[in-house]
Amino acid sequence: MDTIAGTLVTYQMYIDGRWVDSVSSQHFESHNPYTGKPWALIPRGGAEDVDRAVRAARKAFTTGEWPKLTPSKRGALLRKLGDLIADKSGFLAEIEVRDNGKLFAEMSAQTAYMAQWYYYYGGLADKIEGAVIPLDKPDTFNYTRHEPLGVIGAIIPWNSPLLLTAWKLAPALAAGNTIVVKPSEFASASMLEFMKLVEQAGFPAGVVNVVTGFGPEAGTPLVEHPLVAKIAFTGSDATGRKIYEAAARGLKRVSMELGGKSPNIVFDDAEIDNAVKGAISGIFAATGQTCIAGSRLLVQQSIHDRFVEKLVAFAKTAKMGDPMSLDTQVGPVTNLPQYNKVLNYIDIAKSEGVQTVLGGGKATRPECGDGWFVEPTIFTAVKNSMRIAQEEVFGPVLAVIPFKDEEDAIAIGNDVVFGLAAGVWTQNMRRAFLMAERLQAGTVWVNTYRAVSYLSPFGGYKRSGLGRENGQEMIKEYLQTKSVWISTAKEVPNPFVMR
Ligand code: ADP
Repeated sequence: MDTIAGTLVTYQMYIDGRWVDSVSSQHFESHNPYTGKPWALIPRGGAEDVDRAVRAARKAFTTGEWPKLTPSKRGALLRKLGDLIADKSGFLAEIEVRDNGKLFAEMSAQTAYMAQWYYYYGGLADKIEGAVIPLDKPDTFNYTRHEPLGVIGAIIPWNSPLLLTAWKLAPALAAGNTIVVKPSEFASASMLEFMKLVEQAGFPAGVVNVVTGFGPEAGTPLVEHPLVAKIAFTGSDATGRKIYEAAARGLKRVSMELGGKSPNIVFDDAEIDNAVKGAISGIFAATGQTCIAGSRLLVQQSIHDRFVEKLVAFAKTAKMGDPMSLDTQVGPVTNLPQYNKVLNYIDIAKSEGVQTVLGGGKATRPECGDGWFVEPTIFTAVKNSMRIAQEEVFGPVLAVIPFKDEEDAIAIGNDVVFGLAAGVWTQNMRRAFLMAERLQAGTVWVNTYRAVSYLSPFGGYKRSGLGRENGQEMIKEYLQTKSVWISTAKEVPNPFVMR
């Protein structure tokens, strides 16, 4: 961390291999959700800062060391960054917790795991192979090259800033692109700490840049910048739509991972205690602030009451408090607007006629202090048409919906605009395969929930997104294919004679 002004840590941005203030020299405060108080000052970047960063990234893409590096050397740099992350994962997690209030236990596991993305895509960097095409023309040699796109603009949310950056940065760099990252105004500090590791790993100046600031002030100019070839975005569907529109005006590529309203479906043949744990982790892990939250719990009618009883009993045991404490199980909501939004959705649900079987408001436990805490909340008697079942809350609020049979579960499960993920709890193999096929979601988990890996594709059906992240295939999202034709004919034929 850099200079201390009063009690607040003052950060700088990273552009063209240098630590800089914003052109305006202005800062904004980053708050600790556990105390509700500011702890850091972040540079308030704007269009001019974005322009500097994009130009630096473009220069690094076209000239200097980066385009000359062999793919193997690019891979080695990525793996070195992975080592540095592994070494500093605890520290990075601590900074994230200060910014977004998620549990240290979760964030430290996440930042440690994050190194794998840099190892994996580092390994893939020199395995991007083109093809030789057996052409239908004589005396012609045709082959393909997979080339990088240019400057990537990455726009990141606050819930898992460094992990979601890794999902974009590692493949983008492995493919040979350069990048400008715009972290969330609610959680920028960890990105700036992470950039010290990027610098230490030895990436040439301009290959990775970070501009901090607010969405409309720093995000929009990045999306609109003519030298940006692609926008990789994770965030809300409302912002995603705005970005998609702006990117379309410049005919830019986009990949988007947006919201969800994922069904977590429990059949009466499920291993009930496991399903209870899966339902709890689906909604209360990360205080429900995850795009893959299993925020609709569909329970088969025949076991509904018994299941809800067990669920409530388990959820009641959740310990709230200081997210840095390893005993804490549910932390605060990350920021004040989000806190108010979650409380507002609780009111909306109550006015829609649901039954509150747990929580249902602010957490006033002494261990929650002045933090932005919401009680783990469970609603029953929810109809799938209600707003609480259709709209993403992004908080610890679970809507329980009963269903009759498989067809009913599929119909309810798919009856939302989103399609990010789904969970199924059953011991019946035929049913597991059927549900995995019929649920419209980019990820289906059976007898587990909330698992992700660098090895397996992740992304949304319907309004949950465009494109995929993770896995081998998705490196293509950062590449474009060139077809090269080489004539081996001795003589160019007469162009006036058609053949
Ligand atoms: P949340 O903060 O709930 O994740 P957003 O989707 O609004 O929701 O934010 C995700 C990221 O998108 C943040 O980095 C934010 O600054 C950025 N952002 C918000 N509005 C815009 C916009 N109009 N153009 C570009 N980026 C934006």
